[in-house]
Amino acid sequence: MRTAYLDNNASSPLLPEILAAMQPFFVEAHGNPSSLHGRGQQARVALETARGSVAKLLGAAPSEILFTSGGTESDNFALFGLVTPGDHVITTAVEHHAVLHPCRRLEAQGATVTVLPVDRDGRVDPSAVRRALRPKTRLISVMAANNETGVLQPVEEVGRIAAEADVWFHTDAVQAVGRVPLDVNRMKCDLLTLSAHKMNGPQGVGALYLRGGGQERGHRAGTENLAGIVGLGAACQVVQAWLARHGELDLAALRDRLEGGILEAVVGTQVNGRGAPRVPNTTNIAFDRVPGKGLVVALDRLGVYASTGAACATTTNEPPHVLLAMGLPPELAHASVRFSLGEQTTPQEIDLALEIIPRAVAAVRADSPLWAEPAVG
Ligand code: PLP
Repeated sequence: MRTAYLDNNASSPLLPEILAAMQPFFVEAHGNPSSLHGRGQQARVALETARGSVAKLLGAAPSEILFTSGGTESDNFALFGLVTPGDHVITTAVEHHAVLHPCRRLEAQGATVTVLPVDRDGRVDPSAVRRALRPKTRLISVMAANNETGVLQPVEEVGRIAAEADVWFHTDAVQAVGRVPLDVNRMKCDLLTLSAHKMNGPQGVGALYLRGGGQERGHRAGTENLAGIVGLGAACQVVQAWLARHGELDLAALRDRLEGGILEAVVGTQVNGRGAPRVPNTTNIAFDRVPGKGLVVALDRLGVYASTGAACATTTNEPPHVLLAMGLPPELAHASVRFSLGEQTTPQEIDLALEIIPRAVAAVRADSPLWAEPAVG
């Protein structure tokens, strides 16, 4: 069966060249970077080379990169590492649960948290960030790109506000790194989260940029995930080269063809977050009176892989909090599906998706009592 993998925001496949870079570190070049012997030292060199590649992609110094097990750990590290009872935190209603859940825990421990609303396109107003500042504000955490909609937040403005107020600024850039050019100094961020498997690297490895010095020693015990870290470093090199040749423009063209084709072929559709700047790989479409999960299952049977939202939220029946925060009525949030492309996505996959999606929507609507009812407001 022909298939189209359009769920890269959940996890993107390892590119062959990244797998090839990792492979020696499972067997013949395997070693513990802390061992004194040659094999250990070879592992240490590989680790530090990868650190250099991550740093270069972000415009950081290698000593400011701390390797972690992925985006969730990096977000947790940033929040729990900085915030203590009595502190105040500013964040937004559209953050990933990897930020919002630690915020809730910090509140239970005696911190206060301001969760700022977003506009109908999912953007936070930087002046609202400024107004939310208090003498006890310790940290501002605003994501770079949203995982559901791809909407980019005004992180440079937020970074300027944080710097002027002398408050730490963390950005969860898991969905932005490798998709748009980023520079920690331009963003004036003090901490930045990234994850390898969202940029065609391996699962289970990521990094935290920590201004002024990170590295694992003193922060994170245990033997490093050497092959994974090598994969992360290779992924950073691949996306840096891809951005240098403006690969994001080709990806945006493919995404726009998919998005435009769906809007044209399927009645009762709208793009969530369309009025805002977005990363080039994501589109989130509301299909009026279609149960989103039913559509994802129907698409899956026909070979198109998409999702109704963050992978970690698919076990609940709640509509994505991101779409609710953008003011979508719950029934439209439930009727929304995310399609996310990757560097490896082919024009043939988009052709297939454009052939299948209208058919699948028609079949789901034909089966749905909702479709006989009047449209949402
Ligand atoms: N932050 C965002 C914005 C994400 O999209 C994700 C994963 O979907 C994470 C954090 C968690 O990353 P990881 O899967 O590497 O733990």
